[in-house]
Amino acid sequence: MVQAVTPTFSKSDWQKGYESLRTENSYWIEHVDGAIPQNLVGTLFRNGPGLLDVNGQAYGHPFDGDGMVCAITLANGRAHFANSFVKTPEFLAEQEAGRILYRGVFGTQKPGGWLQNIFDLRFKNIANTNAIYHAKKLLALWEASRPYQLDPATLETIGIESFNGVLKTGQVFTAHPKLDPETGDLWGFGVESGPKSKISVYRIDPDGVLTEQFQQKVAGFCFLHDFAYTPNYRIFSQNPVEFQPLGFLFGMKTAGACLDLKPNTPTQILLFDRNGKLRTFTTDPCFIFHHCNAFEQDDAVILDSICYRDYPKLEPNTNYKEIDFERVIPGQLWRFHIDLRSGKVDRQLIVERSCEFPAINPRLVGKPYRYAYLGAIAQPPTTPGNAPLQAIVKVDLHTGQQELHSFAPRGFVGEPVFIPRPGAVAEDDGWLVSIVFDAASDRSDVVILDAQNITAPTVATLHLKHHVPYGLHGNFTPEIWSKA
Ligand code: FE
Repeated sequence: MVQAVTPTFSKSDWQKGYESLRTENSYWIEHVDGAIPQNLVGTLFRNGPGLLDVNGQAYGHPFDGDGMVCAITLANGRAHFANSFVKTPEFLAEQEAGRILYRGVFGTQKPGGWLQNIFDLRFKNIANTNAIYHAKKLLALWEASRPYQLDPATLETIGIESFNGVLKTGQVFTAHPKLDPETGDLWGFGVESGPKSKISVYRIDPDGVLTEQFQQKVAGFCFLHDFAYTPNYRIFSQNPVEFQPLGFLFGMKTAGACLDLKPNTPTQILLFDRNGKLRTFTTDPCFIFHHCNAFEQDDAVILDSICYRDYPKLEPNTNYKEIDFERVIPGQLWRFHIDLRSGKVDRQLIVERSCEFPAINPRLVGKPYRYAYLGAIAQPPTTPGNAPLQAIVKVDLHTGQQELHSFAPRGFVGEPVFIPRPGAVAEDDGWLVSIVFDAASDRSDVVILDAQNITAPTVATLHLKHHVPYGLHGNFTPEIWSKA
């Protein structure tokens, strides 16, 4: 007899986190459980879709939602919250019109069927995926266009960031740049995909000057959401996907629905050296959005990534809020050992429990490291089916030991961000900060965990006055801007 399994969540609870937040706010957070550490000082900028609809017309995929940057300022044991939409011309036009004017990359068609969508290849820059403060600029990032610059003090939108005209119209910049902790350089890339794809790798120096490091053409369509960085290598996983554009061109399908994983085709790992010289390695078929970290070890490169056994796409005409979690493909943390001498790649499963949003101590980007932090499902991996992310997991990569802080049954977690404690020596001496949607109150909390003791109660739980829709990525800076 199959034993009934009690789910760790209710679907109606989870769905509530995908309601739009229509207001912009700026206030000191008064309702705090626990104590905000006095030496936790700085600003966490975090981006994600704030509007999931225009005037009630729902976007077809949460990744198509309009970018909304949150700023959580921490100083003197207090916290301030602010949020603001990235006011691109396309966003303002849709708000003015009160209806959807653009197709979304992942799953949104304009209403009215294929005739309204045929040959319309315009997208809006939704600037919704990541926010990072670098070289005195706050950037809202979306991988299919150029960054938007925001005022870090007020979150007002300044405009497209072209890095002094270096990035031209039509050029794109990743939502997942990597900050070299030694040099202060921010490394990024852009992809022009086609039958042959062109990858450009960029370096932005600590003064904000962008120089193109190299360009390389590679065979085949490239869906590159993220990359990994070591001092000597820029590492991409070329997922074995193919893009069948006809359904998109003729208005029948969204671009995201035209992607498929090619059966029995290996995933390629593209390893560029500092001069852009490419070596290609192959490994078992899998799909990767996010890398956790990479480092060099003797004659090998170690790459840790979240892998899916198939491209987790949303089927056409599916309401993402009605998704069947039993059928959602789990993401799992794998370690790839790339042998530079033999060209052989071995991989090993590290975290079986479905997980996403890998985070590390930012001082160890590209270096040997011991701890990874992830958003994860709360149920054990032995439980059949999948679930939303409701827990934060800390993984000791030396011992394999995992510790978990669960917010189930009514809490739903976002990406954890690791913030080192000032003066810290130990790698895990710091805090994990995440925005957790609490379905019980229909609001979101900013939670602070002690990274050395994540199973303990939260160091502080900061209750916001409203919910924040499930977000994507963010970064912490030790800088603060004064708040009224
Ligand atoms: Fe991402």
